[in-house]
Amino acid sequence: MTANTKKLLLFGGTFDPIHNGHLATAAAACNELAADEVCFMPAATSPFKLGQACASASHRLAMIELAIAGNPRFTASDLEITFPPPSYTFNTLQRLQVMHSNTNILLLIGADQLPKLHAWLNINELLRLADLAILPRPGYSTAPAAPAQIDPAAWAARPRLWLATPLTPISSTHVRQRVALGLPISGLVPPAVERYINQHALYRQSA
Ligand code: ATP
Repeated sequence: MTANTKKLLLFGGTFDPIHNGHLATAAAACNELAADEVCFMPAATSPFKLGQACASASHRLAMIELAIAGNPRFTASDLEITFPPPSYTFNTLQRLQVMHSNTNILLLIGADQLPKLHAWLNINELLRLADLAILPRPGYSTAPAAPAQIDPAAWAARPRLWLATPLTPISSTHVRQRVALGLPISGLVPPAVERYINQHALYRQSA
């Protein structure tokens, strides 16, 4: 790694919809890690959410674009939605590493992902490819225990960065539930995302 190596945080997820928890924690992570860029990448379909109703990829990407406008270190990528679902982070990471030379790519994940990490495609190889930067999330332990069924050598091979980002008790599920109940979501999503949800009548049916 050279002094001018770019630091990119890959923030993948369903983003159905993107909310202020994603935005606040990503901004804090970007500052804490002195990253050059946070790349928000909506999954075509998460392998963990197959069969679950979801807004279209184009709606989810459009809401990300609205939400990040004005933050020069935030970008949105359609990489995963251009490939057939499900979206596997291992494949995405390999593609990104080819596309971005001289770039240190870290995976930004919430602490709720750790208990499922062993089920990620090629997790042991993935852990050898990239560092994890972990966002604390209300209700999830920040004890840095190795997740079950993960090769201890792979777990030890890379640092895992437990970030000191603020605990943000917002989830997309909560946002969708409030919309379905006709309740306001201001403060949970940026105003432009709230307008988009209203204009396109998203999430009116409870899942
Ligand atoms: P859902 O409620 O639909 O499961 P979600 O709010 O968890 O959605 P995702 O799009 O699934 O949002 O999450 C994308 C990434 O952001 C994941 O790594 C997740 O752990 C993380 N994340 C989501 N919300 C928060 C939050 N409030 N604080 C920290 N990390 C978060």
